[in-house]
Order: sequence, then C-alpha cells, then structure tokens
Amino acid sequence: MTAPLDLLDLDPSLSEEERQIRDVVRQLVDDRVRPHVADWYEDGRAPARELAREFGKLGLLGMHLTGYGCAGASAVAYGLACQELEAGDSGLRSLVSVQGSLAMYAIWRYGSEEQKQRWLPPMATGEAIGCFGLTEPDHGSDPASMATRARRDGDDWVLTGGKMWITNAPIADVAVIWARTDDGVRGFAVPMDTSGVTAREIRRKMSLRASVTGEIVLDDVRLPADAQLPEAVGLKAPLSCLTEARYGIVWGAVGAARDCLETTLAYATTRTQFGRPLAGFQLTQAKLADMAVELVKGQLLALHLGRLADAGRLRPEQVSVGKLNNVREALAIARQCRTILGANGVSGEYPVMRHANNLESVLTYEGTSEIHQLVVGQRLTGLSAFA
Ligand SMILES: Cc1cc2nc3c(=O)[nH]c(=O)nc-3n(C[C@H](O)[C@H](O)[C@H](O)COP(=O)(O)OP(=O)(O)OC[C@H]3O[C@@H](n4cnc5c(N)ncnc54)[C@H](O)[C@@H]3O)c2cc1C
Repeated sequence: MTAPLDLLDLDPSLSEEERQIRDVVRQLVDDRVRPHVADWYEDGRAPARELAREFGKLGLLGMHLTGYGCAGASAVAYGLACQELEAGDSGLRSLVSVQGSLAMYAIWRYGSEEQKQRWLPPMATGEAIGCFGLTEPDHGSDPASMATRARRDGDDWVLTGGKMWITNAPIADVAVIWARTDDGVRGFAVPMDTSGVTAREIRRKMSLRASVTGEIVLDDVRLPADAQLPEAVGLKAPLSCLTEARYGIVWGAVGAARDCLETTLAYATTRTQFGRPLAGFQLTQAKLADMAVELVKGQLLALHLGRLADAGRLRPEQVSVGKLNNVREALAIARQCRTILGANGVSGEYPVMRHANNLESVLTYEGTSEIHQLVVGQRLTGLSAFA
C-alpha cells in the first residue's frame, strides 16, 4: 500500500512473496490498464482476450488452484492480485474472478480428470475463456428456482433454458451451466460452439462497461454424458463456487476504494479554493479521515479472511461479512470522493465515478447486500429469513 493511506502499517504483515506478487500486478495495471481503461469504459469494450493472455502469463488465472498449469498461490496472494486489478477497474477483476474462481474452480473442484485436462490448462494461459451461468432472467437471488432443465436422452443430456447477466458469455469458449435435472441441480461444461447455444451481448450497461456481459440461450442443446461435472451434486456446488469468487471481491472492492482515495487525496492537496487547498478545510479532512478509516478496516478484514482461508478455516458466512462490508463501504467511499472532486468527479478523466458505477454491479452480483445480510442474520439467529 502507498504510504499515507497505510494508517495501521499493514504492509509489514504481508510476506515478502505476497508483497512481490502485489507489486507485479500493480505494475501490470499501471502499464497495461490505466493508460487505456477510461477509453475502454467509454467505448464499452476492453480487449478481453488479449488481457486474459497477459493475465495468464503472470499466473493470475486460476491463481489459487493447483495443478493443470495453475499457479497454486495462497489465498492472500490471490486476494492482493484482485485488489490491484480492481484498483485498475472492477471489470478486469471480474474477468479474472469469473475465469479463475467460477469457471475454472467449478471444473477443478467438480470436474472429471478428462474435463480438467481438456479445459484447465488453456484457461490458465488465457487461451480459452470461461463463463459461469447460474442467474436466469426470472431467477437471480433465488437460484434454487432455476428453470433451465437438463434431461437425459439415452446417454446424452439435452439442455433447455436461458441464463442472463453472464460475465464473459459473448467471448467464452466454455460455459459452466447449472441446470435442474430429475435428481436436482447439476453442472455442465458446455462448449460455446455446441449447436443450440447462442450468446447475445447485453448492451447499455451503465456499470462494468470494461467487462462484457451476455445472455445465453440453450435451445435443446445436446451434450454427451461426459459434459456433466460428475462431482457437482445439488445447489451447494454452484454456491461453493460463489464463495470462492466473493472472497476475491472482498479484496477487489478495497482496491477500487483505495484508487478513489489516492486520486482524491492528490486532488484535494493541489486544488485550491478560497485561497487554500481543498485538503486544508476541516470538512474535507473529516471526509478523508472517515474514508481512510473505513479503507483500512476493509483491508484488515480482507487480510483476516485471507489468513483464515490459507489456514483452511474460512466459512461462507465469514465471506458474506467481508463482501457485505467491503463493497458497501467501497461504494460509500467512491461516492464521497466524487463530492471532493466537484465537477471533475463526474468526468471520465478521473477514475472515481467509473469505480462508483462499477461498484453498483459489484454490490449486486455474487449475492446482493440484502442476501448477505440474510446469510449473516441466519448465522446470528439460527432462523432463515430468505423466503
Ligand atoms: C454486471 C453483472 C455481471 C454478472 N455476472 C454474472 C455471472 O457471470 N454469472 C451469473 O450467474 N450471474 C451474474 N450476474 C447476476 C447477479 O448475480 C444477479 O444480478 C444477482 O444475483 C441478483 O439477482 P437479480 O438481478 O435477479 O435481482 P433479484 O434477485 O430480482 O433481486 C432484486 C432486489 O431484491 C432483493 N431481494 C431478493 N430476494 C430478497 C429477499 N429474500 N429478501 C430481501 N431482499 C431480497 C435483492 O437484494 C435486490 O435488491 C451478474 C450481474 C451483473 C449486474
């Protein structure tokens, strides 16, 4: 972390290796993302395939997985990479999260040896792009009600239905699709060029514009028996993948907030009004102090969860605590920073409003804040208030 914002001297509590990984990713973001990301955002297009290959070269895809060309990094190192990527843009962190924590993790954790051999090595290098289809047009927070069906026809499976709001879908080579069968929810590795699969890009997003999102239509898609992920039984399988990805978000949101605050500190110390820098006004300092306190609390929380994960003790509701707090506070920081930048706060020349808009999606995907409140509420009370 850069000096003035590291109020609690967290830097020394990272290992040398963790700091190195963080710094390499930070450099990549500085060189490869920052100079272009405002244009990508404005155009609603990022060179995702090219970036995926560059991320792959650094071992960022499926970074925390082992074997099959994956880097086998610690949870903290993976989290730090997410933090740096999202300091660049939430859309790029989403690319890495969906690839590594959703699509690759699902295959790595629940796939057959053949599925792992086929998909994981090219996904780790970024040659193949994956997506993860759980959400449907009519079923978001409540995936247990999903309408997509998979039925047996001889040895084959036939999938019918549709998935909505799927990150990377229009550019993906393989989709992990979750569908209802006579025996409950099952997962399938679906090559996107299979007959009956179509992906349409969702346009006019006002958020995550540097990330491609799509709808997948499954029209009697015939798959061989070996497309099914053999170890994925029931809804707990996709939910476990979401826990993986949410963990990355806990860190990523902190990165977006840090970038907002760094930008705002620099701005407020150089912009003068009424004959003094904005940073010299008490009201501005109160805002800066409150934001810096929330930032460092978010970093502590992310690091604590990372250490729990590396010790094999991280529970899903703890990830909910992190996602709920860190995304909510990052969004509050981004909005508050925007006020300090005045009119420049709404300009794409500065990253602040882009981060704020991105964080609106991050607040919603991988479980909305309300859903994470319900998860924590259930842990506290023993009562499920979901339905
Ligand atoms: C940019 C983007 C990318 C995405 N990428 C993916 C992806 O790659 N794969 C994927 O499968 N999905 C993806 N999603 C979908 C995302 O996970 C869903 O949008 C999310 O789960 C919420 O579902 P919904 O939008 O249908 O909202 P709804 O479920 O309709 O919820 C609407 C509102 O009602 C609230 N609500 C719902 N149920 C309750 C309840 N029981 N109690 C209180 N409040 C409740 C919610 O919190 C929310 O505020 C993405 C979404 C976005 C925006």
